[in-house]
Order: sequence, then structure tokens, then C-alpha cells
Amino acid sequence: MEGKSNLNENRMNQNENRIQSNDSKINSIGNEIALDDNRTNSNGRRINLMDLLPEELKELLEGMGQQKYRATQVFQWINKGVTDIDQMTNLSKALREELKSVAYLGKLKTVRKLVSKIDGTVKYLFQLPDGNVIECVLMEYRHGLSVCISSQVGCKMGCRFCASAGAGFVRNLTPGEMLDQVISAGTDAGRRIGNIVIMGIGEPLDNYDNVLKFLRLVNHPQGLNIGYRHITVSTCGLVPAILRLAKENIPITLSVSLHAPNDSIRERLMPISRKYSIDKILEACKIYTVEIKRRVTFEYAVISGVNDSMDNAWELAGKLKGMLCHVNLIPVNHIEDGEFTRSDRQTMERFKAVLEGAGIETTIRRELGQDISAACGQLRRSVITYTDPRRWEDAVRSEE
Ligand code: SAH
Repeated sequence: MEGKSNLNENRMNQNENRIQSNDSKINSIGNEIALDDNRTNSNGRRINLMDLLPEELKELLEGMGQQKYRATQVFQWINKGVTDIDQMTNLSKALREELKSVAYLGKLKTVRKLVSKIDGTVKYLFQLPDGNVIECVLMEYRHGLSVCISSQVGCKMGCRFCASAGAGFVRNLTPGEMLDQVISAGTDAGRRIGNIVIMGIGEPLDNYDNVLKFLRLVNHPQGLNIGYRHITVSTCGLVPAILRLAKENIPITLSVSLHAPNDSIRERLMPISRKYSIDKILEACKIYTVEIKRRVTFEYAVISGVNDSMDNAWELAGKLKGMLCHVNLIPVNHIEDGEFTRSDRQTMERFKAVLEGAGIETTIRRELGQDISAACGQLRRSVITYTDPRRWEDAVRSEE
């Protein structure tokens, strides 16, 4: 019963993130609200505080006659993981009420948490304020906790080996929805998150502006303060967006999902390769490495009989030779109904040896959370159905 009423409420709130205001006096802080004329909390007139940078919070609070240090307080509370504006106890009750009349805290709800018995990797299913559900994975590495976050509900890219592709695209995540995956996972773990990889559901560079704002939010010294060098953005190779990123002066690690040594193999795997050839992608990556002065990672899912021959390895080595890069070989994860199977360990080791022989640093990805299908891109179809709010409730129930 309770679940049902929540769901209805969530459906009612569905439009909250999409509101465009014509009469906004504070357009610069998020173009979603009209403060002065509509200080009501009717649906769609409030702004999600999770989406705002401190300078935007300052504008919001100054517009309410508050001093600017209030913005720092609100931002710090958000990053501490409070779930309600009323938990911001150094704000007066009156201010909290005023804030609630124009804004809300769009927190994610944990609908499921799976913990690997093998290595402690945690997979969260988070419900967004509008009822959609996304995945996030928390992994322990030698150097600390790393979180793999989603950037969209679903994905438009349609990579043949990827489980997310089957469910189609629903919408972009907002900056705050990405931030809250990090905050919520960190709060649950009770420890600082050291690294972020944007390798969950979605194509981050297809949600460029929101991802960029997320990077600024999560890097902010008054917030989680996670260094750009500890953040990886993974892309299927959207060339114009890579070139744009190269101009941002944000030293994140760029990871490109290459998966093939030539366009004909890549076209079998990734529809996007009909738009951007490997040569164009590599050209953009070279510009990125020159501008940002960081090496690019190439992801290569090794698939038996498709892209794992020694010829393929030599061809790839030829393409990447001399580039400032690193190759990460991933044993492809089998997905339900999927036609692709992983190569055996020996084949991968031989593939790696060819690349290393050409002077290209290569690793074989360690697999974490296998018992909870935690690997990025390894979403079970039953989980995918959660992304559709109409089917989500049934899917959860049928698993219980
Ligand atoms: N859209 C982005 C990020 C999300 S996918 C991208 O394409 O990079 C994250 C990574 O998981 C990508 O390298 C993707 O190619 C890989 N991936 C997806 N499905 C996979 C599977 N079944 N096995 C192995 N890797 C997979």
C-alpha cells in the first residue's frame, strides 16, 4: 500500500525537473523557478537544491534577503547527506520554511542494495524523485572507495553487447541526481569516496552540460572536494563532445570505449561508429591529451571470435602506437539473449602481450561483484525494467 501511494506521488512530481519558467527573475540559477511571483510549493514551481552550485545557492538565498554564508551552510548540509531541509539545523525554522516554499531536496531513495559476498562490492538501485530507477556501484580498491555512477536513465547508443541498450532511453540525469549517487553511496559506506567513474547507465557526453555541472559540484572545496584527477568519464566516442571537453580545462581522465581495431568490426558492435570513425575518435583523443595533458584510457571488451585475434591485436597496436594512452581489456560480460561471449584468459593475455610489445600499457580489468552482477554494463534485463516507472513496482514485487 505504502509503495503504491509513494509511486503515485512520484508520478505527480514527474514534471518537476522539466519546468521552464518564462517569468523567471533568477534564470541564471537554474531557469526552473519564478521566485518572486510564485512563492508557492505547487508542483513544478520549486527548484531542486541538489542541482545548485554554492554561487547559485547564494543568489537564491540573497534573493530571500539572507546573507551569503547561508549558501555555504546549505551546500555543506547537502554534501553531508541530509535527506530533508528540516535537518539543516543551523538555519532558523522560518528560513527552512521559506526555503521549502521555493525549493526541495530531490534525494534518491535506495530501493535495493546488493552486497557481494566475494569482495564487498555494493550495488544500489536508486529511485529518482520522478520514480525512475538507476544503478550505482561502490567498489573497494587498494587506494580507497570508488563509485561508478549513471548519467542517464537508459541510453540512446544501442551498443549490441550492452544490457542498458535494450531498455531504450528515458531521460538525462540532472547534476544533483548524479551528485546524490556519490553522496548516498558515501553516506551508506560511512567513508569518503576517493574516485568516481561515470560508467554506469547512459552516455555521459550525450548529457554534456549536466555532467559538466556535476563535475563542478563534486569537485567543489565546500562539498565533497573530489579532485578532477580522481574522476573518469567514459564515452562511446562522441567526437564533438570530446573536442569540447578538451577545451574545458578540467583534468579528468577520459576513457573511450573502443572495443575494436577497425571500423568494420566496430560497426558490428556499436551503431555510433557509423557516425564517428575510429580515426576521427583517435584524432580527437590526441587533441585531448595535448590540451589536458593526461593520457586517455581505451576500453576494449574482448569478445570471442569477434575482436580477439592476434591480427586484431596487431591492428589495434598499430593504431594506438605512440599515443599517450592506456588500454583496459575487459572480459565481455554475457548478457541475457546476448550473442557475445568472452575470450578465454590465455587469449586475453596474448592480446595484452602484443599491445605491450608495441609499448602500449595494458591491463586486464579485475572483476568485482560478480555474484551481484555489479560490473558496469552488466545490468540484468529484470533490473532494466525498473527504469520504467510503470513496470518498476511489479518488477520489485516479483523479486521479493
Ligand atoms: N556510454 C559510456 C559509459 C557507459 S558503459 C561508454 O560507452 O563508455 C561503461 C563501459 O562498460 C563501456 O566501456 C561499455 O562499452 C562497457 N560495457 C557495456 N556492456 C558491457 C558488457 N556486456 N561487457 C563488458 N563491458 C561492457
